[in-house]
Amino acid sequence: MNRLSATGSDAEIWCHTHSGTAYDFEEYLDIVREFHGHAAPGLLIGGKMVDVALSRISREILFDVICETDSCLPDAVQLLTLCTIGNGWLKVVPLQRFAITFYDKYEGEGARVYLDPLRLDAWPEIKNWFFQLIPKADQDSDRLKEQIRAAGDGILEHHRVRVDPEYLGRKKSGRKTTCPVCGEAYPVAQGKICRACDGGSPYIGTTDKKDKNME
Ligand code: ZN
Repeated sequence: MNRLSATGSDAEIWCHTHSGTAYDFEEYLDIVREFHGHAAPGLLIGGKMVDVALSRISREILFDVICETDSCLPDAVQLLTLCTIGNGWLKVVPLQRFAITFYDKYEGEGARVYLDPLRLDAWPEIKNWFFQLIPKADQDSDRLKEQIRAAGDGILEHHRVRVDPEYLGRKKSGRKTTCPVCGEAYPVAQGKICRACDGGSPYIGTTDKKDKNME
């Protein structure tokens, strides 16, 4: 069944947002490029995965999302739903499996959608990309895109899951204090000094804060 997309296109709908706005493949491509910088294959498939997940959960519930990889796929969720890493409604559990789960944020019942490797034999370009069978430079990106479009939800599988209560609700960082080393606020639960000063900083060398007001 074809419906008109958000911009009035009568091309086949690729995916919907949580509020029902429909995008055809080309429209979704444009949104992906604008947000993500390029039309990453994982994000194109991800749009269809979000669409399948949304169709498998009740519209009556408040849902949260678990994404099982930190690569590309979280952006499909952030583009098409209100669930973001920033608001805590999207949790990335970096198992590096290509899967998302939409679930009742209070009860934990949900629908998990994943790319089924058994279905990739019919789509060699997708298989090459997904299993990284040939170097990226040798992959035919136009053919890959066309295969993703043609395969649609035919390469996806879904099943019911129950989310571990540990993942329900939002973790709070608790009371904060000032770190005696860096002078910045951090959660008391981390210990006597902040985690950054305890060897967890992503920066090398010492951070000379006296430089911070220099041009
Ligand atoms: Zn510190």
